[in-house]
Amino acid sequence: MVNKELLGVGMTSRRTRNRLVERLIDEGISNRKVLEIIRNTPRHIFVEEALASRAYEDTALPIGLGQTISQPYIVARMTEILLAGGSLDTVLEVGTGSGYQTAILSPLVKRIYSVERIEPFIKQARSRFQDLQLRNIRLNHCDGGMGLPQYAPFDGIVVTAAPEGIPLALVEQLVVGGRMVLPIGVRDEQALVLVVRTEKGYDKEILERVMFVPMLGGVS
Ligand code: SAH
Repeated sequence: MVNKELLGVGMTSRRTRNRLVERLIDEGISNRKVLEIIRNTPRHIFVEEALASRAYEDTALPIGLGQTISQPYIVARMTEILLAGGSLDTVLEVGTGSGYQTAILSPLVKRIYSVERIEPFIKQARSRFQDLQLRNIRLNHCDGGMGLPQYAPFDGIVVTAAPEGIPLALVEQLVVGGRMVLPIGVRDEQALVLVVRTEKGYDKEILERVMFVPMLGGVS
């Protein structure tokens, strides 16, 4: 991809991105590293061209096949909550979708495994990561509800589709002290939850109301 496309012009320019970062600060995002990565990541290449001019609005947008790219505020919030426990070597993301959340996490961790049940999203995300020269991402086409036992344990897990309850298979793939951030619940009644793995089980903290697409089983 030519540099001009990555840098953006007009509604995708640096100035537009700066405005998004100001807004995230106003909304309470305080992790400087996260804010800088959001400022420097071209969200417009993660959406269809027709929506590129809206890429720096603080809103979720459709990415096709009934799915959405998460709102920048939510991406920032989930990332800073994950990082609040200290540095992370390996992270699992369930629900690659557009790949935007993966791209924001990539510079902050040693290695990120991201799984997605819809195959075309994997191909699209892979080519975006190549364009951005993000080399510590491993993509897998599978049902993420069961996690990725062959690469466990993880220091952190981020889930970007909502299961109805906490998936125990995922909790078991965290190191003790490891953190998982995920939306829980059904359509209009979802909350963002932080789960911290303990020796005996896990602690959970309910953070705020959110709206995510549901976590589904199987692959397509
Ligand atoms: N982080 C993404 C969010 C995409 S929406 C982004 O910002 O673009 C959530 C994604 O989770 C969808 O792509 C959906 O297909 C995927 N998903 C839902 N259930 C899943 C499951 N069980 N395993 C893997 N991916 C799943």
